[in-house]
Amino acid sequence: MLPFHWVPCDGARHASRDTRPAGGYPTGTEVKTLCGRELAADNSQHAWFWGTCPDCNREAHRLAASRQEAQSRVQKCGRRK
Ligand SMILES: [Zn+2]
Repeated sequence: MLPFHWVPCDGARHASRDTRPAGGYPTGTEVKTLCGRELAADNSQHAWFWGTCPDCNREAHRLAASRQEAQSRVQKCGRRK
């Protein structure tokens, strides 16, 4: 699982590291986004058609990559005699 969740707010799909309730952030929930803003989540269906926030997208890729790196490090350690 990735250390963040996608959340539509303010006309774009942002990513947040805030704990996400089952079923997603309810509309109106204040979330801290990866692009450094605090926005109210919009859990309506049309919100998922909004474009991805480029700053969050970049940060999300960075987080995913560093997580993968950490995992491969753990695997390497596991192979030690
Ligand atoms: Zn964003």
